[in-house]
Amino acid sequence: MGKIYIIDVTNRDGVQTARLGLSKLEKTIINIYLNEMGVFQSEFGFPTTKHETYYLQANLELAKMGVLQPIHLGGWIRATVGDVETAFRYVPEIKHLNISISTSDQMIQGKFLGKRTRDDITQMMVEALETARSLGAETVGVNAEDASRTDLDFLIKFATAAKEHGAARFRYCDTLGYDNPFTIYEAIKAIAENVGIPIEIHCHGDLGMAVANSISGAKGAVDGGQDAYINTTVNGIGERAGNADLVATVLAITKSKGFAEKYHLGVPIDMSKSWEIAKFASYAFSVPIPINHPGVGTNAFAHESGIHADGVLKDPQNYELYSYTELGRGEPELVETGREICAGEYGGISGFRHVMGKMEVEFGDSEQADKILELVRYANVASQKPLVEIELLFIAKYPDIARKLLTLRPLDTP
Ligand SMILES: [Zn+2]
Repeated sequence: MGKIYIIDVTNRDGVQTARLGLSKLEKTIINIYLNEMGVFQSEFGFPTTKHETYYLQANLELAKMGVLQPIHLGGWIRATVGDVETAFRYVPEIKHLNISISTSDQMIQGKFLGKRTRDDITQMMVEALETARSLGAETVGVNAEDASRTDLDFLIKFATAAKEHGAARFRYCDTLGYDNPFTIYEAIKAIAENVGIPIEIHCHGDLGMAVANSISGAKGAVDGGQDAYINTTVNGIGERAGNADLVATVLAITKSKGFAEKYHLGVPIDMSKSWEIAKFASYAFSVPIPINHPGVGTNAFAHESGIHADGVLKDPQNYELYSYTELGRGEPELVETGREICAGEYGGISGFRHVMGKMEVEFGDSEQADKILELVRYANVASQKPLVEIELLFIAKYPDIARKLLTLRPLDTP
């Protein structure tokens, strides 16, 4: 019986969202949280984008050091030989890739303007896939962009070619959020049965069904005899109306009516980090968590009306499907209301020592303190907001990695 895994794409789909972005340090912290939660893979960025190079290399170093283990770090590129070669030139250590190409007639005609046929699309994907494998990729996922508007027979042919040439997974992208739980189930089950390849489910919320479609798609893959890999983002941040939210998706898998009796996560997810990662992503993206967000919204465990308040006080299960403690909520949070010293881009050593001292970080000598402070200044230049504890601690603990993350030097290579 197939299992369900999570591939989080916050650091790829999340950051490519209009008006939103993350600093390289913020992306790294997201990877650390995802790893701690037990997420199978983080789609950690774009190996052909020059300004990602040092960040991607630094995160692969963290993986080697055991800090980002056992999570897989996967890059996202277009399915072209050129992109694959560039990815390995900029990030030679990269081991996991997803290569993407449009498969619907709408996009083949609308984007390639009649210059490419379905066979050309398959051929391009196969060449890119073979190049990636020959250059050392351990796993390659093949993405069918706009899969939900693609002729199913062609999709099966395309996925079969991917499997025959060594793809580890096939990603079914509901790029426009067009599917519903019924259609995506049928399509993915048919691909699983006819192709026999593990399937990634990539859903968007344009019709408000990203999470529902994700677990329905996963059911289709498992019923078709394959593993399912659901793509999520933290707080559902993603293109347009967003992606399937990480916390809501795991809650849907584990808590919804009867689902968990038959469909199991391949790796347990530590949901006690939910509150922390959601709050960090909200801070990093500068996007508030909606008040009614599942699990992590301000109102997710709030009760006011007489009947509900009375009921929940008698027995929380009267009006709560799961407990806030499972999501790491309930600890009081300290908010400074008096004097505050912040670490920032124009800060000095005295204030910095004060800030770090509050977190019980002591420096061996003043040279070391100066070195960390300098990195903190640069991190602040990149994020343009006061750094939070986890970021400051990261810089103090891994200064050499932090230096790499903060290095933004335009590359000369063409
Ligand atoms: Zn997407």
